[in-house]
Amino acid sequence: MNGIKILVVEDEEKILDVVTSYLEKNGYTVKQARTGRQALDYFKEEEPACIILDLMLPDLSGEIVCQTIRRKSRVPIIMLTAKAEEKDLLGGFTIGADDYLTKPFSPRELIARVSALLRRTSRNEGPLSLIYEFDDGLKIDTVGKVVKRNGTIIKLTHHEYMLLLVFVSHPGRTFTREELINLSFGAEYPGYDRTVDVHVKNLRRKIEVNYKDPAYIITAHGMGYRFRGEDDEAPV
Ligand code: CA
Repeated sequence: MNGIKILVVEDEEKILDVVTSYLEKNGYTVKQARTGRQALDYFKEEEPACIILDLMLPDLSGEIVCQTIRRKSRVPIIMLTAKAEEKDLLGGFTIGADDYLTKPFSPRELIARVSALLRRTSRNEGPLSLIYEFDDGLKIDTVGKVVKRNGTIIKLTHHEYMLLLVFVSHPGRTFTREELINLSFGAEYPGYDRTVDVHVKNLRRKIEVNYKDPAYIITAHGMGYRFRGEDDEAPV
């Protein structure tokens, strides 16, 4: 036993059993919850070091549970999703999940993700900080919700900030304009493709060193946009 407590929230007994036994075999202490409400109760009572959270639960959705916990805590959360739910999964990151696994997953993979997340969290004193700093002085602080270049605040509108948040948390991933609207502004936002282009244009003017030759928000022709990933050149 390593004394680390993990809360597993899953209504499918079979998966709950497998996940629990693997975690226990690896020295973790497991608290099981089968509904969203139970998850929220146990989160308060047990103070787990990490939460494994199924997206489809019989009462509250995993999304609601995740958002509720995020208002109070930076505890690492791994979402479990089924393939068919992948569209929702995209939203998982914006609602505050740290990682996700698609069913069926290998329990060994889950253990690896749990220990990686716990390592990341333990390196940070206090709450997990999500601050992105770039070589050219751009700093995106998603905890304080401030964007700066070389210490000077860059004023963004709410929509620009939400858009940037989706981009920066998924470097290298190409999003369609529709995905960007859904993830940044919510599916009920009455946006058109053109709306995204306008926000991207404004965002580029604010965060790019040279907005005519953007280094952060890159146009993926015929597809949409992506935030600079490992395969893209760093700005000069
Ligand atoms: Ca389920």
